Amino acid sequence: MSRSASDEEFRAEVRAWLQANCPASMRTPFLPGDEVWGGRRRTFPSDDARIWFERAVERGFTVPSWPKEYGGAGLSREQARILDHEMRAMGCRSPLISFGIWMLAPVLMEYATDEQKAEHLPAIARGEIRWCQGYSEPGSGSDLASLATRAVLHGDHYVVDGAKVWTSHADQSDWMFCLVRTDAEGPKHDGISFLLIDMTTPGITTRPIPLISGSSPFCETRFDGVRVPARNLVGREGGGWQIAKKLLEHERSIISVMRDRAPEEAESLPAMLKRCGDASLRDRVIQAELDFLCNRLTLERTAEAAKAGRGPGAASSMFKLYGTELNKRRKELRVELAGYQGLGWEAPGFEPGELQITREWLRSRANSIEGGTSEIQLHIIAKRVPGLPD
Ligand SMILES: Cc1cc2nc3c(=O)[nH]c(=O)nc-3n(C[C@H](O)[C@H](O)[C@H](O)COP(=O)(O)OP(=O)(O)OC[C@H]3O[C@@H](n4cnc5c(N)ncnc54)[C@H](O)[C@@H]3O)c2cc1C
Repeated sequence: MSRSASDEEFRAEVRAWLQANCPASMRTPFLPGDEVWGGRRRTFPSDDARIWFERAVERGFTVPSWPKEYGGAGLSREQARILDHEMRAMGCRSPLISFGIWMLAPVLMEYATDEQKAEHLPAIARGEIRWCQGYSEPGSGSDLASLATRAVLHGDHYVVDGAKVWTSHADQSDWMFCLVRTDAEGPKHDGISFLLIDMTTPGITTRPIPLISGSSPFCETRFDGVRVPARNLVGREGGGWQIAKKLLEHERSIISVMRDRAPEEAESLPAMLKRCGDASLRDRVIQAELDFLCNRLTLERTAEAAKAGRGPGAASSMFKLYGTELNKRRKELRVELAGYQGLGWEAPGFEPGELQITREWLRSRANSIEGGTSEIQLHIIAKRVPGLPD
């Protein structure tokens, strides 16, 4: 594809801007705990992380392709692609990690009222509000449509009662996008609504759930008579399932790329290969690396299509399945290559980020569960790609 002179001008401009504004320490792979999540209680692992976040927010580069009125930079598709490439080439960290940007905003753009967009999108872009996802419930994970958290309309408020589980970072979040049951009588998919809930509302409690992999983002979240303004309903009452599925497509697309850019993977497989004399293990590593590169190229192509307005669609399930299973394979190989060091957990005298291989391996198991398990992705692919019956 030939590039226009103005695109090349933009590339030069953006490269100079990144060189001037992205501190050197922000051009290194993330170490565990280095991410900036934003929110009312936002913290920064270093001054450089704060500077990088503030400059990116100011320039609209946390959400480069969003319109300026919502806090974006208003970049064209090609410009956003150029920025992405320049950031990757320079090794720039993401200035803001955000469920709001990855999952909620795309569905707000599509389904929310102008008032809702004006209230929430700029705060997401500027990292002022941190969002969590209230989908899963005890007994409603894969069978999400069976969810039972009730929301009953009383005048201009819904009163919400029930419990969510595996709510990542609920205890750190300011708001939750939440699936609630507004009708328990008809078909289960038709009784679900999509509600935005301020986590400071009386009646909400969160309780962290510890995990075997060490640090845990998980919480249990309870709602006891929580009053939520009816204007926080997105779309129509009973129309939440459609929105929920759309959001999951975005979530699955992100999960497939996220592992590709895993912050913790400071030592790559090819680098570790130097220490390996076992021919069959070398073959498996090389195959995994080739699969990784092919997957990345395919993802880039699909990201282009998504930005062109076609949305991630059923392909998100294929990429989620392939990307997360591949990630498990790669993490398994890293453990094998590390030998006895792959059994490391924590020990005195080691830097943060060392001895992480075991934790990363364990975390990769969760990767093919979050956002819908691999078995569920296979169901979706069978149904939506070749159109097989249930
Ligand atoms: C790291 C992580 C982060 C998460 N974060 C969040 C979050 O922020 N918010 C949120 O709402 N949820 C979150 N979840 C929950 C996640 O969405 C659920 O764990 C997932 O959807 C699976 O549901 P479940 O755990 O209830 O398992 P189950 O649905 O009980 O499934 C158990 C097993 O049975 C299999 N199975 C179930 N049904 C079928 C079927 N029909 N056909 C074949 N196999 C089947 C599954 O594949 C799985 O192997 C997170 C999970 C993880 C691991």
